[in-house]
Amino acid sequence: MKAVRSPAELRASISDWQRQGLKVGFVPTMGALHEGHLSLVERAKTLADKVAVSIFVNPTQFGPNEDFTRYPRQEAADQALLEGAGGDLVYLPDMAAMYPQGFATSITVAHVSEGLCGACRPGHFSGVATVVAKLLLQGLPDLAVFGEKDYQQLQVIRRLVLDLDIPVRIVGAPTLRESDGLAKSSRNAYLTSEERAIAPRLFQALTEAAVSLRAGLPAGQACLQASQSLLRAGFAKVDYIELRDAQSLEPVDHPTAPARILAAAWLGRTRLIDNLPVC
Ligand code: AMP
Repeated sequence: MKAVRSPAELRASISDWQRQGLKVGFVPTMGALHEGHLSLVERAKTLADKVAVSIFVNPTQFGPNEDFTRYPRQEAADQALLEGAGGDLVYLPDMAAMYPQGFATSITVAHVSEGLCGACRPGHFSGVATVVAKLLLQGLPDLAVFGEKDYQQLQVIRRLVLDLDIPVRIVGAPTLRESDGLAKSSRNAYLTSEERAIAPRLFQALTEAAVSLRAGLPAGQACLQASQSLLRAGFAKVDYIELRDAQSLEPVDHPTAPARILAAAWLGRTRLIDNLPVC
C-alpha cells in the first residue's frame, strides 16, 4: 500500500490510475480505524478498482472544549489495518498541507447542517464541509464512501457536492455495529467498562422508538420515551432524539416518507451518536 503526504502526490496517484482506465474510490477518515471504517473500504472495493483512504484529524470540526487533543491517533496500526483490508493508498496530510498559512476559506451548508449535531456543535459541519471539499478536490476520485453512522454529515456532504459541482459520486454505507448493537466508533475507546455495558441502550432505545413510530405513536412522544429510558439507564444527558425526513432532515411528526430517527447522548464524558431508518 502506497503512503503519500502531499495533495500533489495524492492527485498524481489517483490521476495515474484514472488514465489507465481504473475507477478510484476514496474513504475519508480521522483514523483510529475500526471495522466500521474497514467496511467502507470493502464497499469502495466493490465499486472501484483502486481504493484510497485519508487519515486526518481535522481540528476545524472540533469545538474549543471538545476532544481534538485526546482524539486517538495510531498511524502505524491504522496503516496495517488498511493494508489487511486491501487499501491501495493511504493519504496522511500534515496540518500545513491542509491548512496552509493564511488559510481563510470556510464552507457553510445551510439548512441540513442546522439542528441536531449542528445545534449542539456550532461550527462542526462547516469544519466537515470545508475539509471534505478540500479532500475531494485534492484527490478527484470517482466516488467517495461515507458512513450512515454520521447520518447528518452524510446529508451535508451530499448537499455540498451537489451545490459546488464537485465531480465525485457520494455513496452512503450502513452502520457497522458490535454484537450488542452499539455502533462501532473510535470514541467507544473512551468508555469505562461500566459505561460500555450501558452504551448499547442507545441503539435499543432507538429501535424501540422506531417500532412505536411505525405503530403510529407521534414523534414527540416516541422520542421523549426514548430519551427518558436513556436517562434511566445511566446516560448523563441527551442532546437530542428526533425524527427527521431522511433527505432534507426537516422535522417530521409521523414517518410517512422515508424518515430517520437520530440521537446524541452523553455517557459520562463521551458523546455517542446513532440513527436508524424508520420507514
Ligand atoms: P471518522 O473517522 O469518525 O471521521 O469516520 C470516517 C468515516 O467512517 C465516516 O464516513 C463515518 O461515518 C464512517 N464510520 C464511522 N463509524 C462507522 C460505523 N460504525 N459503520 C460504518 N461507517 C462508520
